[in-house]
Amino acid sequence: MKTHAVVIIGSGFSGLGMAIALRRAGATDFVVLEKAGDVGGTWRDNTYPGCACDVQSHLYSFSFAPNPHWSRTYAPQPEILAYLRDCARHHGVLPHVHFHQEVRSARFDDTDDTWVITTADRSYRARVLVSGMGGLSTPAFPELDGLADFAGPQFHSQQWDHSVDLRGKRVAVIGTGASAIQFVPRIAPEVARLDLYQRTPPWIVPRDDRAIGPGRQALFRRLPVTQRLARSAIYWQLEARALGFAVDPRVLALGEQAARAHLARQVPDPELRRKLTPDYRLGCKRVLISSDYYPALGRPNVDVITEAITGVRGDAVVTADGRARAADVIILGTGFRAAAPIPAGTIFGSGGRDLADRWAGGPEAYKGTTVAGFPNLFLLVGPNCGLAHSSMVYMIESQIAYVMDALRVMRARRATRIDVRPDVEATYNRDLQARLGRAVWSAGGCRSWYLHDSGKNVALWPGFTWQFRRLLRRFDSDSFHLSPAARVFLAPAAPAVPTSRRWRRSSGPP
Ligand code: NAP
Repeated sequence: MKTHAVVIIGSGFSGLGMAIALRRAGATDFVVLEKAGDVGGTWRDNTYPGCACDVQSHLYSFSFAPNPHWSRTYAPQPEILAYLRDCARHHGVLPHVHFHQEVRSARFDDTDDTWVITTADRSYRARVLVSGMGGLSTPAFPELDGLADFAGPQFHSQQWDHSVDLRGKRVAVIGTGASAIQFVPRIAPEVARLDLYQRTPPWIVPRDDRAIGPGRQALFRRLPVTQRLARSAIYWQLEARALGFAVDPRVLALGEQAARAHLARQVPDPELRRKLTPDYRLGCKRVLISSDYYPALGRPNVDVITEAITGVRGDAVVTADGRARAADVIILGTGFRAAAPIPAGTIFGSGGRDLADRWAGGPEAYKGTTVAGFPNLFLLVGPNCGLAHSSMVYMIESQIAYVMDALRVMRARRATRIDVRPDVEATYNRDLQARLGRAVWSAGGCRSWYLHDSGKNVALWPGFTWQFRRLLRRFDSDSFHLSPAARVFLAPAAPAVPTSRRWRRSSGPP
């Protein structure tokens, strides 16, 4: 079996970004394993009506691949998917992508410091493994009595069944998170009834989404500096949102005022307004942006049901007050298994240790990227790399620059194995959790997918994004055990990746 310098899992923003960085640095010996038949990750999988990014597209895109053609402030899903396909094609990474290769397992081989990656029908060997599997790719299904036996069609928002015609149907939607608030306004006008089952009302602020006209697009195309300025303006505007949790929680009160005013403006019915008013601090859960969700809930064919669901019986959803509401279709907007992103039995590190066992108390990593005992493995969008306020693409590019620098160090030192020191990883996470424990996500009076069952916040980066970038600007080899150079196949063993200077320069803030 051939040993590749790098194998990348996934071809969403992370996996593609990593592959493009390698190409731009001149590397050719790498493979991207993609489970589906197309690139795009979350932007390929989520096709529900109204799916769009809730971060402005001029920032939610690669810094090295500005797109002057974004049609709206917040681009819809098909446009983002088209952008990712374009990036893959333009940067020549498609020949490296092996489609329909869902990774079953990846095992570190201590005898020669390589990873052996197995899919349904093939095996790959690599000196370095980069996971771009993402944190929000495994849907979470509610454990509701009788749901499996529901009489009609049911599907999760991430697996939208476009063959089900919702027109004139009675539809039950469970969940009121970022996905549901995007599809509810789209389907509400066409269904006969929409029963929206809400467990916790989200905080919602207005969404200033505008078309970007041909004049402005032409300006961005002809004068790229104008687009860079627009991107910077968005970047700093979003960073200001982090003031509330990174500097002074009193700032959150201003956001709460704005969100309450938005609710009061859009929901005149006091009873509905009461149901939709959160009883926890703004920011504790992801703050949602929408200007069409509340008006959709005011429609005569829409009901917001706040009684807890006790189960599903035949064709009806039953709530704690004993009521059974008939439905033709159930749509689950119930989110993802974010606190257990990598299933047990998938990644085995040195000595055959399962990453899921290592993470029994909740996922954690050093700088969100490396895990002690799992040498030569880099996690993109790993533990505590998530954001509540800005673009994940910025975080991903920060991590990619770090990985590229690590590859450069491996090559320069002729190291076949790098493994973060357990003491360094432990100290990093102790400090991180101390910061997180005081923050609104733990202290704000809510329970969100950011928190593991243990109460530990395993999802979010607690500061400004530029702090994360600064932390990862250089591969800190002192924090790692680098294997001695005395290996049998010393010279060819380190990944053949040229210096990453060019990549790093092009991915500077913002
Ligand atoms: P989510 O935010 O986790 O929302 C899930 C919803 O389902 C919540 O309202 C939750 O209620 C409810 N729920 C879960 N289990 C339930 C049960 N057993 N019974 C009743 N209700 C239940 O999921 P999401 O809306 O799919 O969004 C997930 C994340 O994806 C977002 O936070 C965001 O990071 C990302 N996303 C991003 C965009 C974007 O535009 N960039 C769009 C969509 C999603 P509780 O609140 O009470 O738990």
